[in-house]
Formats: sequence, C-alpha cells, structure tokens
Amino acid sequence: MSGIFGIVAKSNCSHDLFYGTDYHSHLGTEFAGLVTWDGAEFNRKIHDIRGSQFKAKFYEDYKNLKGSSGLGVISAKEEQPILVHSKFGPFAIVTNGFVDNARQLAAQLYKEGQSFSEVTDGTVNLTELVAKLIIQGENIIDGIERMFSKIKGSCSLLLLNKEGIYAARDRYGYSPLAVGERGREWAVATETTAFSNLGFKIKKFVSSGEIILISENGLKPKHKGTGVNQICSFLWIYTGFPASSYEGIPVEVVRERCGKFLAKNDNVKADMVGGIPDSGTTHAIGYAMESGVPFRRPLVKYTPGFDRSYTPPSQETRDLIAKMKLIPIPEIIQGKRIVVCDDSIVRGTQLKNFTISKLVEGGVKEIHLRIACPPLMFPCKFNYSTRSIHELAARRAIKAIEGKDLGDVSAYLDEGSQKHKKMVEWITKELRVASLKYLKLDDMVKAIGLSKDDVCQYCWNGREP
Ligand code: SF4
Repeated sequence: MSGIFGIVAKSNCSHDLFYGTDYHSHLGTEFAGLVTWDGAEFNRKIHDIRGSQFKAKFYEDYKNLKGSSGLGVISAKEEQPILVHSKFGPFAIVTNGFVDNARQLAAQLYKEGQSFSEVTDGTVNLTELVAKLIIQGENIIDGIERMFSKIKGSCSLLLLNKEGIYAARDRYGYSPLAVGERGREWAVATETTAFSNLGFKIKKFVSSGEIILISENGLKPKHKGTGVNQICSFLWIYTGFPASSYEGIPVEVVRERCGKFLAKNDNVKADMVGGIPDSGTTHAIGYAMESGVPFRRPLVKYTPGFDRSYTPPSQETRDLIAKMKLIPIPEIIQGKRIVVCDDSIVRGTQLKNFTISKLVEGGVKEIHLRIACPPLMFPCKFNYSTRSIHELAARRAIKAIEGKDLGDVSAYLDEGSQKHKKMVEWITKELRVASLKYLKLDDMVKAIGLSKDDVCQYCWNGREP
C-alpha cells in the first residue's frame, strides 16, 4: 500500500510535512512526493526512492517548499502528487489504493476525448485516473462520490486546493485515514504514528466513504460515511507501524493479543520464544506473556538502509533484502528448542532460505513456527499486492496434494478439516521445521477486537463485502 499525509498549519508547514510523510516510509518503496500551496501556486517535488530513502532524497528539497498547507505521499507504485488545472480550479491530489478496473475506466475516458499525461508502458497513473474521474463531477464532492462509484478496488485520497484539504476515505474503508489536532492546526494521515512527535493528538478516525474539508477554520463534514467497514486486517498483523492505531485499536496491542492466542492453542515444550523482526517480535512477546516461555532474540535485524522485504515489487530485490537484513545470534540459539513467531507466510521461500536456514546453521535444535494469521489463500485485490495466487505457499501445497491447481479451495479453508491439516503438514515439511501452527481466523479477528463483519479477511477466506 501507500501512505498519505496532509497538513494545514498557521505558518510554513514544510518541516512537519517532511517528517509526517517520512513516518510512512515503511509503506512504499517506489516513489515519494511533497506538495505545498503557498496561496498563489503549488510547489511540488517528486523523487524515485528505489535506490535511497525518502529522508535522503527530500532533505534539501523540503526546506525550499513554501506554504502553510501541503500533502505528502510514499507511493507503492506510481509518481504522486498529481497537479490538475480543472473547472474547479487548480488542485493537488495523492491517493492510497488500487483500481482493478483502471484499464476499462481509462479506455472510456479516452473515448470521451480525455488525455493522460502520466503514462508508463501504456498504463495510466492511477492517481491521475482518479483525478480525471473526480473532475467529471458537478463539484469536488460530487466528483469524489462519482469516482468512488466507478472504481473497483479501493481509494482513499487527500486533495489540496485553496480551500484546504479534502480528505476522503475509501467507501469500504480498506485503508485507514485519521485526523490529528494541534491547537488550531491539523494533520491527516494513513498512520497515526506520524502524529505524536509532531505534537498532534488524534482528533478522529475518518469513516468509510466520509469526506471532510480540513482548513484553517477547522474540520467541515462534507459527506457522511457509508456505514460499511472493511478495514484491512493485515494492517494490524503486518503492514502497519507498531505505534499506529486504526479505528482506535493499537497495532502493538493487537500483535500481543495474536501471540497470546497462539500460546493458548499450543503445548509445545520450548526453551525460548523469539520473533522474526519487526512484526513477528511483538507476536512473540505476546506468546511469551501468555506461556511464560522466556522471550529472547534468535535473530536481530540490521535496520539502517533496508526496506521491508515485502514491499519492493521485484523478487530479486526482496530476496536480497531478506538475505542481508537478518543476523542470527548463535550464542543464544545453539542447542535450543525455539518457538519462532512470524506475522504470515506468503511464498515461504524467504522464510525457508533466509531465516530458517540461518537458525539451522546457527545450531538450533528445534524450530516450532507459529504464524499470527491463517494460511494466505487469495492475493489482495484492494491494494497493490506483490504476490500472485500461484506463488502463495498454501496454494502450492494444495497443488502438490491435488496434483493440479484448484479453482474452489473451500475444502481447505475449514481449519478443522483433514484437507487443511494436510496442507499445513505439506508446508511444515517444505519449510523443514519441527512443527507449524497458524492462528485461527476467529482468534485473529478477536485479537483485532472489531466485529467480524467490520474487517476485511479476503486474504484468508476470499469473501468480499
Ligand atoms: S485482502 Fe488482505 S491485504 Fe487486502 S485489504 Fe483485505 S485483509 Fe488487507
């Protein structure tokens, strides 16, 4: 996914815009951008951040940005912010989401005589597409509403113009958006992590489909929410930053609760429990709290300069990061029976080749792998996903068991079924660990603490709202 940040301040906002955007750096690895409005024009900077981090690329730029309001984005895929001169006047826009029917929508717009300026390898920039759909409306609110009704997928956005920032959350709420308050100044962000060190306090969580205008006069509701909530569960399990909370539910606490549920359903004898950094660490802390097994660190992560191995689109880069960033501590693990907690198993190849193998080489006696969500069965279609269905470890297991790819995998979703058990056994052998257990879907939802109708679980059960 991407991370978006906006600020409406009383004086120059560039310092807070820079740091507020930087607090979203864990969400994307491709492009980043900043834009400010100085009362007369926009000042915009965009950089490719594939080879270096946001801070390094923007450190000199941000000091030259002028204006008291601005937007920032760390983008998973495309160049943003987009600037548009429209019948509603000029505006800048950043988005977080994925438009599954982008090709069809772009074809329709071409037919209507529209043109696109940001096209890469024949593919339109999704943020530009969203902007083009918005300007088809009677006004900005109507335009956002119309855009929401046309896209398949999800889209949360921030739109900056001379009035302030229009903040709109996806109508199913797949991605979060929260507003922070600092006196009479405002920030809006994907990650509430961005608020505390800049002095903002959470004012509200924007509801699914809700649109608000944030200006120097405060918050003005512009459109009511849909009442539907399908916020991404994976934010709490893996993608979100530990200091963030979504819908008022803190990530770190949910991860501890996942670890506790894992421990409650376990009776393995172990000398220690550790996690695969970063998110697996908190799942392991929860496991240790519940079981009394000592928490120790079998592997540590060398953080400076490394992205998350999940986010870069190229497999080669993901593998390189996975290989280099984790370092085992043989003195801790030698001869030990270890419970190892991780957030999820996607393909399983990095886990096997770059994590488990390091523990084995370090002399570990037994590895008992505990995963803080059920087997991933369906690639996300509401945000950018780096996985294809055939790559998923669970799907490879099913293919190996059945001798072919299955269209209908419902028999494998039932956690009490023999088929499910066989699938987990296959993955256990593939990973070469002594035992493997996944968190049950109901326990994962309980750990989050929302009703099961109010969180997206598509990754695991393939059900859409
Ligand atoms: S499909 Fe998975 S990753 Fe995508 S929004 Fe739903 S829970 Fe999140």
